[in-house]
Amino acid sequence: MRCDHCSNDVPDGVFCTRCGAHQGTAAEIGDAKKREHRYAAHPNEHVVQPSVFTTLFPHLGQHKIHEFRWAFAAGLAGILILYIAGLITAAILVATFLVPVLYLIYLYEAQVYRDEPATVLGFTIGGGAVVGLVLTLIERAVYNPYPGVGNPLRNAGIGAGTLLFIGLLVPIVQEALKPLPAILLPNRADFPETVDGLVFGIAAGLGFSVAESLVGFSSALTSLPAHMTPGNWIYDLATLAVFQPLLQGSATGMVVAAIWRYRRGSLAGREIGGVAMAVIAHVAFALGTLLLKDAQVNPLFVLVWQAGVVGALLIYIRYLLHHALLEEAAHMGFAETICPNCHMHIVASGFCPNCGMALTAAPASVKRARKPRTDTATKARGKT
Ligand SMILES: [Zn+2]
Ligand SMILES: [Zn+2]
Repeated sequence: MRCDHCSNDVPDGVFCTRCGAHQGTAAEIGDAKKREHRYAAHPNEHVVQPSVFTTLFPHLGQHKIHEFRWAFAAGLAGILILYIAGLITAAILVATFLVPVLYLIYLYEAQVYRDEPATVLGFTIGGGAVVGLVLTLIERAVYNPYPGVGNPLRNAGIGAGTLLFIGLLVPIVQEALKPLPAILLPNRADFPETVDGLVFGIAAGLGFSVAESLVGFSSALTSLPAHMTPGNWIYDLATLAVFQPLLQGSATGMVVAAIWRYRRGSLAGREIGGVAMAVIAHVAFALGTLLLKDAQVNPLFVLVWQAGVVGALLIYIRYLLHHALLEEAAHMGFAETICPNCHMHIVASGFCPNCGMALTAAPASVKRARKPRTDTATKARGKT
C-alpha cells in the first residue's frame, strides 16, 4: 500500500513502517502524522501521560516494564520496613541507590551501550558521580545550610541569600555541568539516536544524584545511631528514594537529548524548550521545596509539589522523544523481526506496522536479530 503521509510504498499495516503515521481516516485518530495518542516508544500509551518507567526506561517492552515496576515497589517497601524498624541509616542508603541501581540493571538489560559497556557506563553513571561529588563538596564549602547533625532543611530559617543560592544558583549550575560526562563520551558517534542521548543523560543525572545524596546526608549517615525512633524521616526518605533521583535523571536526560538533536542538525523550538524546561523544573523543585518547608506546611504538600514538578518534566520528555523518534525514522531497510512491544512477527523498517512502536527504541538484542529482507522491499515497491 502507499502511505498517505510519506508517499512510500510500504507493507500493509495499521501504521506506516517508514514514517510511523497512523493509517486511516483523520476523524477517528486525530492527527495521524503526529499520533499523540500513540507514544512512539510505547504505543499503548498516550504521549501526555506522566509514566515513570516507560519514559525513563524507553527500551523496555511491556513485560520488562512490569518487572521493573515490581522491583521498584519492592525497594520502596524495603525502605518503609527499615524506617518503621528505626534503621534510618540503612533506609537512607537503600533510598539513595534504589533508582540508580534499577537504571544500571536496565542498561544491561537493553544493552544500550552495545559492545562497550565500560566506556559508556564509566562516562555516564561514573562521570555523573564524579561531577556530583566535586560540585556538592564545593557547594558545601561555599555554603553549608545544615551544620551538625540533622535532617536537611529541618531547622531552616532562610534568608534571601539562601533562597538565591540553593533555589536558583545551585540548580542552574548543576544543569549546566551534569550533562558534561555524556557529552564527553569518546565514542558518542556510535550512538546517533536521540533516544541514546536521553538514556545517557538520565544515567549521568542518576550518577550525580547518588554522589549528591551521599554528600548531602554524610553527616546524618556518620552521626545517627544505627537504630533510632523513626521520627519524620519518612518524608525525606520519599524525596531521596523517588523525587530527587527522578528530577536529576529526567532533567539531564532532557538536556542531553536536546544536545543530541542539535548534533543531528535538528535544533528547533521544541529542543530549546526542553533545555529551558529542565532548568525551570529544577529551580521550581528546589525553590518550592525550600519555601514550603520554611512555611512549615504539612510535609505531604512538599511531596505533592515535587511529584507535580517531576510529572511535568516526564511529560515534556515524552513530547520531545516522541517527535524525535518520528522525525528520525531513517529507512533501516525492511527486515524480519519480532516487535518488542506487541510481539508480532513483522517485516518492518522504522516502525512496527502493527502497533506503531519506533524500532529505534528497541533493545540492542532485537536490533541485532533483524534479518534483512530486500525481496520484501522490492515486492512492496512493485505492488504499489
Ligand atoms: Zn508513511
Ligand atoms: Zn508492534
